[in-house]
Amino acid sequence: MKAMNCPCGKQITGDTDEEFVVNVNEHLASAHPEMAGKYNTEQILSRAQEV
Ligand SMILES: [Zn+2]
Repeated sequence: MKAMNCPCGKQITGDTDEEFVVNVNEHLASAHPEMAGKYNTEQILSRAQEV
């Protein structure tokens, strides 16, 4: 499982890498539209912690 704390305070998690990336992109699109689409999969995973 992967997890990341967004700077806004929300913790984003995912059971798999793919699910995590989808969840991060969904959070960015809904909460931070100015950041949506700015990060590719590799960049998102590089910020994730294995939990
Ligand atoms: Zn956020």
